[in-house]
Amino acid sequence: MREFRKAKGVTERYTSLDELRTAFGLKAVRKRTTDAEKLKAQREKFVGTCKVCKQPLSWIEGTNTLACKNPECKGVKMTSKNEDGTDKVWYIPVTRMLDSDGMEIALRLFEE
Ligand SMILES: [Zn+2]
Repeated sequence: MREFRKAKGVTERYTSLDELRTAFGLKAVRKRTTDAEKLKAQREKFVGTCKVCKQPLSWIEGTNTLACKNPECKGVKMTSKNEDGTDKVWYIPVTRMLDSDGMEIALRLFEE
């Protein structure tokens, strides 16, 4: 990036537009939309729905996990046979892990 002249004989070099914004006293760019309707739609689309109860998943703040918080929903039903031949049933909660790109989107959409 080229040198910017701040005053006579004083130049500064910036390596990113973020640095330039900070140096000129501008606020950081917010990538979140200001349109409330659009934000709601983006949030709904991002979290998706629980595959068992079809309710929207919720992002657990501070983690990379989306989970179904519906108290009625037990999760995915799993079955197998015990050694004595009786049925064994258990449930696995519905969750979704976010990768680093997903985390960036989650922070942008949900963090205040
Ligand atoms: Zn559910």
